[in-house]
Amino acid sequence: MNIRLENLNLTPTMRCNLKCRLCGVLVPQYDYRPQMTLDEFAATLKAIFELANSIGKLQITGGEPLLHTELADMLEECFEYKPQFDKLWLFTNCAVLMKSAVLDVLASHKDKVYIHMSDYGARREITEGLLRQLDGAGIEYRYLKYFGDEQYFNGWVDQGDFVKHERSNEENEAIFYSCSHVKRGGSWYVRGGQMHLCGRSIRGTEVGRIPLRDEDYLDIFNGTVVERREKLHRLTQSEYILACDYCNGEYGTEDLTKRHPAGEQDVTCRKS
Ligand code: SF4
Ligand code: SF4
Repeated sequence: MNIRLENLNLTPTMRCNLKCRLCGVLVPQYDYRPQMTLDEFAATLKAIFELANSIGKLQITGGEPLLHTELADMLEECFEYKPQFDKLWLFTNCAVLMKSAVLDVLASHKDKVYIHMSDYGARREITEGLLRQLDGAGIEYRYLKYFGDEQYFNGWVDQGDFVKHERSNEENEAIFYSCSHVKRGGSWYVRGGQMHLCGRSIRGTEVGRIPLRDEDYLDIFNGTVVERREKLHRLTQSEYILACDYCNGEYGTEDLTKRHPAGEQDVTCRKS
């Protein structure tokens, strides 16, 4: 059995220096923002690459990953598995500069690195400094403008808070199969020893707003490798996950009128 995951997300930290109103994984809206230790990160990577034969995009995201003080060491750990993934994508909100140690690690593996820059217009001088850092190191990046007029793809969709919609199984399946994450093979997240198919599933369960069902996640540390690989294979065959019933399900709409200005800051975020 060959298991390939197209997109797998690791979140060194769920802390963030911004408070986006429509944050897809509701980082500012809930106070629980776990941060991985270097040992935990290394153990997680080891388990993942025991289970998956290959990964397309190994995505380092958050929260804002550049806030983690041990990010350079974590990235070095990732490159130990270089033959097993296509590219490492590092996501940033363009409001934090890279430490020189991080830049050095990325530059020394630049054939495998891609930086995904979402600019919410929060810190213009830092964004410009970050662009200079990447240009200077010859690191490939994609810059998306998410402020003011003419935002990338007309901004964001509103996935909503974790509110139960009480849809039928058929309705949840329809939402699941129309979701862009699902069409791209899932947007897998691993945190706290759990692997979920979507970032809203792991976030909603860890903050206690979505019940944790056995069929919706994999415990990456328990059971034999064969058992865990079998469960992961079953997860890749899911027809929907419970989190879909707690989601507006608009991720994937091509209706640009359903899009909102991205990255609007909300200092009145509800606390959990
Ligand atoms: S930058 Fe905004 S969207 Fe990204 S994690 Fe922080 S709050 Fe969420
Ligand atoms: S909860 Fe379901 S519909 Fe919503 S983003 Fe995740 S997979 Fe897509």
